[in-house]
Amino acid sequence: MGPLPDVMAAAVYQSPGVIAVEERPVPRPKPDQLVVRVHACGICGSDIHQLRDGWGFQPGAVAGHEWSGTIVALGDDVTGWSVGELVVGGASPRCGTCRRCLEGKPSQCEDRNAMITEHTDGAFAEYVVARAGGVLRLPEGLAPRHAALAEPMAVALHGITRSNVAPGDTVMVFGAGPIGALSIAALRSMGVEEITVVEPHEGRRRLAADLGASAVVDPADLEVFPTWEPERLSSRAVHVVLECSGHRAAIEAGFNQLGRGGILVMVGAGIDHPTFDINRMILNELTVTGSFVYDLGGFERALELLASDGFPADLLIDPADVTLDGITDALEGLAHGRIAGKVMVVPEVRA
Ligand SMILES: [Zn+2]
Ligand SMILES: [Zn+2]
Repeated sequence: MGPLPDVMAAAVYQSPGVIAVEERPVPRPKPDQLVVRVHACGICGSDIHQLRDGWGFQPGAVAGHEWSGTIVALGDDVTGWSVGELVVGGASPRCGTCRRCLEGKPSQCEDRNAMITEHTDGAFAEYVVARAGGVLRLPEGLAPRHAALAEPMAVALHGITRSNVAPGDTVMVFGAGPIGALSIAALRSMGVEEITVVEPHEGRRRLAADLGASAVVDPADLEVFPTWEPERLSSRAVHVVLECSGHRAAIEAGFNQLGRGGILVMVGAGIDHPTFDINRMILNELTVTGSFVYDLGGFERALELLASDGFPADLLIDPADVTLDGITDALEGLAHGRIAGKVMVVPEVRA
């Protein structure tokens, strides 16, 4: 592999909904970093919030954290890696010594913000720089385009871990966008059979059925009992609800679908606060909890699952990859539910 080029194309955030392809210097690695030529980078729900809705993202920054690619340069202190290896980006660093880290809960590291000492640009660009300690090798036989699902799969697996679901439980998944769809595929691989998916968009309902959901429902058809009847349970009452949409109405509807002792796990981030009926919660001993990023070892498990026989990666990824200048349109399509699968951004790499 020859020397790195000087400039590359990058999709740079300007203002909410406006992303421009600009020329940027190709990053050079610090001693503990490596440079990766990006093969594919998925568009995340958080990218929709940041790039389209403008939640706390700085103009001039480059997003994209769900990437796979090939190592093209190593920092001076990097050992154990070589140029040409296929990798995916992994979790951000955790302290490893606080109470939560020692409990095996890196998502709740008490020092998690302090551990992120610098913000580097993301992978909606031809090249990305990463900590050598923060990338993972692809398992044998896993295509780099499929491997780019590792991060959202790790998110889906963490939501499932948080739910304590077991084979035999009944599960409802609200929202069959990328995380909901990955959750369905992961639940099926664990032997969970009773999965009802609640999703307003037809294309996503079809995807959910193709992934093996046992029932797909339009939210308008859900039975929701009013809050002044906390003893009445829905006829579809379930053990576990995975809320993957972040919409207030879905969170509240999900809460109302829980049977006795049920658990609602909020995976999708939202800004509009839901209202829960405390009496329903008390009388039925319901649990409402959140799920943030990943399990310990979550990326390894995600890669293993993605590489497993018969895993439906091609169903989960939208067939139409986009280039850097297609991100704006794809964000709209995803936000409106017109696109069912995960959209992969494939940057054009100059010869
Ligand atoms: Zn993501
Ligand atoms: Zn910690």
